[in-house]
Amino acid sequence: APSLSRVDPELAAAIAAERVRQRDELELIASENYTSAAVMEAVGSVLTNKYAEGLPGKRYYGGCEHVDTAESLAIERAKRLFGADHVNVQPHSGASANQAVYFAALEHGDSVLAMDLAHGGHLTHGMKLNYSGRWYPTTGYGVDPATERIDYDQIARVAREIKPRLLLAGASAYSRVIDFPTLRQIADDVGALFMVDMAHIAGLVAGKVHPSPFPLADFVTTTTHKTLRGPRGGLAFCKADWAKKIDSAVFPGLQGGPLMHVIAGKAVCLHEALQPSFAVYARRVVENAQVLAEELLQAGFKLVSGGTDNHLVLLNVASKGLGGKLAEQALGRAGITVNKNLIPFDTRKPMDPSGIRLGTPALTTRGLGPDEFRQVAHWIVQTLDAPEDHDRAARIAREVAEFLRAYPVPGIPADEDNS
Ligand code: PLP
Repeated sequence: APSLSRVDPELAAAIAAERVRQRDELELIASENYTSAAVMEAVGSVLTNKYAEGLPGKRYYGGCEHVDTAESLAIERAKRLFGADHVNVQPHSGASANQAVYFAALEHGDSVLAMDLAHGGHLTHGMKLNYSGRWYPTTGYGVDPATERIDYDQIARVAREIKPRLLLAGASAYSRVIDFPTLRQIADDVGALFMVDMAHIAGLVAGKVHPSPFPLADFVTTTTHKTLRGPRGGLAFCKADWAKKIDSAVFPGLQGGPLMHVIAGKAVCLHEALQPSFAVYARRVVENAQVLAEELLQAGFKLVSGGTDNHLVLLNVASKGLGGKLAEQALGRAGITVNKNLIPFDTRKPMDPSGIRLGTPALTTRGLGPDEFRQVAHWIVQTLDAPEDHDRAARIAREVAEFLRAYPVPGIPADEDNS
């Protein structure tokens, strides 16, 4: 069969260039990872050809016996990995999984109490342009200005005031453990449902280096492509009582045919996460983040909350007189990929905030340990010391690419010649 490069050279060239980028740059985006070759094989398989509306054994299409096997494996493994009553593995993304919970649990206009975007929450947790904020009146909670950790007393106070139908926990830029038992208690005290969006920390929960939201939460959602290291996609878990409502919210509520090739990839990543080696990986992700935090602190940077318990560090670059936009660009020139990020109580704008977010999941997958993360921190500090020095950035980018040759990306041979 003709290869992609013969059929569509233009597109093939974009993928080839992306392979080089992923191979030669330090990937520090906290929400990204390198999935295994086995996961990519499943996602690139003939399962993409199959329609399978419905659930295993109850489909609206013939010929589903093999995709039924794939989906049943994903369901069984997800439940076993997290000790969950029920899961729907069909949400196309994290946003879709969240939408499924909203659709199952809430009526239009029901109120939600969720972490503010500006304090580390996600846009599907009530941002005003997102469906969540448009259809469900949302009150934001945040961190304490002194500790920069979630202010549980404030949540309890606001919960008593507004009596939300749903209390939502989970974040995209929060570096500390989230206290699920306290949040469950707050939800119970005001008769609210309790949902946890563990997208960022799912792999840490699986590896038992972050407390689990199971069995406390009524609903748990996640993406599969962050610390969990699977294909892009979502999962929606719930307690047994909600199973039918969650399933019918996903289909026919929100989606048509499930992406069976992606569900197969989810099954593979869940299998991988059930192996003892995954717990070792999760532990190293956190250790590496703590080393990165320590080194940056020693270099005189301020970190939001002063450090990290998980896979990410929120670096306050304004503390060194820099904007997040310039910091992201300068690091990009040095072959170090990060994203600019608001910090709590930020006085700057979202497009040029005071922080950058750094995460260790992807580079830990490549095999970097504490010593290597000290080197990574050194490159970051060097770059941010002279963010306009393009020569320095180019030199660091060359050093980074050379260094990374010893740490192959899954699915990309170390000696692959893309030139
Ligand atoms: N929930 C949280 C906490 C996230 O951080 C993200 C993505 O960054 C999502 C949901 C949305 O996932 P997706 O981008 O797959 O829709």
